Amino acid sequence: MPRNIEKCSFCGRLKKDTRVLIAGLDAHICDNCVEQAKIIVNEELASKGGQQFSDIKLLKPSEIKKHLDQYVIGQEEAKRVLSVAVYNHFKRITQPQKKDDDVEIEKSNIIIVGETGTGKTLLARTIAKILKVPFCIADATVLTEAGYVGEDVESILSRLLQVADYNVQAAEKGIIFIDEIDKIARKSDNPSITRDVSGEGVQQALLKLLEGAIVNVPPQGGRKHPEQKMIQIDTKNILFISGGAFDGIDKIIGSRMQTNIIGYNFDKKKEKIDRENLLQYISPTDLKKFGLIPEIVGRLPVVSYLHPLERKTLIRILTEPKNSLVRQFTRLFEMDGIALTIDRNVLEFIVDKSIEFRLGARGLRSIIEVILTDAMFELPSDKKVKSLKLSLSYARSKFEKANIAKLKVA
Ligand code: ADP
Repeated sequence: MPRNIEKCSFCGRLKKDTRVLIAGLDAHICDNCVEQAKIIVNEELASKGGQQFSDIKLLKPSEIKKHLDQYVIGQEEAKRVLSVAVYNHFKRITQPQKKDDDVEIEKSNIIIVGETGTGKTLLARTIAKILKVPFCIADATVLTEAGYVGEDVESILSRLLQVADYNVQAAEKGIIFIDEIDKIARKSDNPSITRDVSGEGVQQALLKLLEGAIVNVPPQGGRKHPEQKMIQIDTKNILFISGGAFDGIDKIIGSRMQTNIIGYNFDKKKEKIDRENLLQYISPTDLKKFGLIPEIVGRLPVVSYLHPLERKTLIRILTEPKNSLVRQFTRLFEMDGIALTIDRNVLEFIVDKSIEFRLGARGLRSIIEVILTDAMFELPSDKKVKSLKLSLSYARSKFEKANIAKLKVA
């Protein structure tokens, strides 16, 4: 074909009327048609791809809670608060806005305060599983360490996009769990914050996401490459659940409550305060005092807390959740044709060791591993063994033989 009559095989535009005309084997395509094609491809992929996230099922708060109960033991208040917040959030994004409707329902992003290992991540992950929406975890401390704040905040969205199988629509309705948000608190009077990091800068970058913004996201994450195509993600409907231990916040809560009580002269109320567990009185004011900027606190309107795990809760955690450790290990042995039974006092032993070594719920698994490794190594090749009854003396002997340093918390 002579050069002067080269044209786009899709729209017929002559080469001189296009900015770029790309030659194929025996066809050409112009920049304009490439753009159009890209839009069509994206729409097709969004409707076909990521079927697993296709429609959100709007469950009632009590139904959400019932599901949570199957995986998360105790923490009743947090489960109720979360169920309502999530219900409202999904009502907000699934109901079409009436045109003349001036009531705009705002997002109910959540902040959960509680010691490490008490179930913050588990709650967020379980909610995403129940609702079948894409879910990812972002560690706020990583954002501090990598100087390029803006880019790193985008990388959270890249991860969500990957989890969503690059289905932009699904990602835009996903849930992001921001862990350790307390670690980016700005330096305050709080003695537990010794680093002089400019947490405030990271908070500002996060704020953009929480508020709802259209962000250009590099699909593969990482640093921007000039040749990498960006995908636009609107964070308006993404639910953010953040969590942190907020070490030392109980003192802030305590002194606030003390002041309130003196102010109002409520002697009776003073008696009712449960000084052992001040977290239950957490309020946005305390979060600000701790060092979260007021704008961030304002964008995390739902505040909840988790109780420290008591001995009896830890025992329940071993056996009750749908995928409890006892069920998981029983299944592993079952796959080798071995029926595993664990004595009650073994469960108590595991919990007591976890408490003794200050490992919390996370330690339970490593202790069981230590106790069962020999059996898991030997029994699969022993055809005669059809059952294993785990007794206290067996558990104790294996535990004592083990290198305690191996008890890493996953
Ligand atoms: P956090 O995010 O608060 O540090 P996680 O949610 O990661 O803690 O909890 C660590 C592990 O401990 C979980 O994977 C789960 O196995 C167990 N766990 C903690 N709290 C609970 C709970 N309330 N119910 C059931 N399992 C729990």
